[in-house]
Amino acid sequence: MDDLTGKKPAPPALDPDGDALFLDFDGCLVDIAPRPDAVVIPESLPQVLARLSAKLGGALAVVSGRSLHELERFLLGYDGLMIGSHGAEARGMTPPLEESPDDLAALQTEMDHFAQQQGLLFEKKSHGGALHFRADPSRQPEVEAFTETLAERFPAFAIQPAKMAVELRPDGFSKDGALVLLTQLPQFSGRMPVYAGDDTTDEPALAWAEAHGGFGIKIGDGKSAARYHLAEPSDIRDWLAAAVEE
Ligand SMILES: [Mg+2]
Repeated sequence: MDDLTGKKPAPPALDPDGDALFLDFDGCLVDIAPRPDAVVIPESLPQVLARLSAKLGGALAVVSGRSLHELERFLLGYDGLMIGSHGAEARGMTPPLEESPDDLAALQTEMDHFAQQQGLLFEKKSHGGALHFRADPSRQPEVEAFTETLAERFPAFAIQPAKMAVELRPDGFSKDGALVLLTQLPQFSGRMPVYAGDDTTDEPALAWAEAHGGFGIKIGDGKSAARYHLAEPSDIRDWLAAAVEE
């Protein structure tokens, strides 16, 4: 399982009668952009998700580290289940986190100041924030050191490493935790979990799908608990489109 994912096979066709589908957003459904607000949403994507959700009896969810309101804006036209903020926010089920930690604003202010001083990009999120160093990857050590001190001072938040960014999110939430909650909804009953994602934040969820009778699909290179692999977001979009047309 720890071989380079490039050696792993492509996933089999989705079974609309037996599978449940969980899809990461950035780096999975859409290509990673130079800035998080610059992602390009293929025009057909919301419709494909909507049609596939209907075909699966509603057993489809987008599961992302993004803020929920951003996902809703990006995927306008898809009205199905969505998990945001790494499992803390939800649309279509009870939100796992009811209220942001009290010191959210103080945390975001400190992250914003650091970003301005250091010439980095601060992304404010519903329940936390991210410091992006994609424009200058050599800044990673400073960002990591700073977020570690913040996580100590703001214990309601946990560090979430991401691609070319370090994030602070509410402690105690995760994508695999979201799968546990989602699969208790009636439309998931008896279905096999299929999870697709590209990042370290997806690994526990990919492993969860593998351990619960379904399978994972790793998008892009890198070690993964997933048994299947696709090279890039356009490949999974083709796979989804094929499942809609079947
Ligand atoms: Mg991702």
